[in-house]
Amino acid sequence: MSAALRFACTGCGKCCTGHHVPLTLGEARQWAQAGGQVIVLIEGFVPDGPGMPVEQREHALRRSLGVPCGTGEVQVAVTFAAFNPGRCMHLDAADLCTIYETRPLVCRIYPMEINPHIPLRPEAKDCPQEAWEQGPVLIHGQVAADPALRALIEASRQADRDDIGAKVAVCERLGMTVSALKGNGFTAWLPDMTAFAHALDHPLSGSAQAWQVHVEEPKLAEAAGTYGLHVTAQTPEYYTFIGF
Ligand code: SF4
Ligand code: SF4
Repeated sequence: MSAALRFACTGCGKCCTGHHVPLTLGEARQWAQAGGQVIVLIEGFVPDGPGMPVEQREHALRRSLGVPCGTGEVQVAVTFAAFNPGRCMHLDAADLCTIYETRPLVCRIYPMEINPHIPLRPEAKDCPQEAWEQGPVLIHGQVAADPALRALIEASRQADRDDIGAKVAVCERLGMTVSALKGNGFTAWLPDMTAFAHALDHPLSGSAQAWQVHVEEPKLAEAAGTYGLHVTAQTPEYYTFIGF
């Protein structure tokens, strides 16, 4: 890939279909108010232990929160995302976004990556080839060329850091207290949206609830156990384990 990459959205609408769109806390509230379903994805790690991506240490620590787990502690990162297994509820028949002016941050940032450790790979994106053959320069190296786009990416990263405490408190209010280990998978939850909206307004702050980590591989489970983590491999009843 050349150092400078051009891009112009063709409006094909593919990124609005079959993608769960990460939301800030405020956007999750708006999504719930609009009648949408939110999916909650949880992954965790132990600093200097299982799940810790050494090269992503600072980024991972800043967007996660330490919670009690067994006799140890696990840093959990929580994503609230618009649940879009098919077409987004805001995509109209002409493949136009009906909330374009107020669409979520991540919709404004796509196809750029938000994680600074993930390089932009056009082949991994839904955009058609012609989108990469027209328009202004999108990135220099891996940095967005447009200052406004850089500001949106930074705002999204900052929201991840600002929101993590409140998101964990919402999870604890709803009993969503099983994490997967980063790099091994996610736990995915589809909360009842009436309960979710209530939890957004009444998070269970400072509850110090005991969390568990879902690990199915015996060697990884053993490694997690040496850090005192409460490991479960039971068939989940209220969530799905999405392994990598
Ligand atoms: S909110 Fe709009 S831009 Fe975002 S996924 Fe839905 S239709 Fe697409
Ligand atoms: S997939 Fe790419 S080209 Fe198509 S609407 Fe989304 S951003 Fe635009």
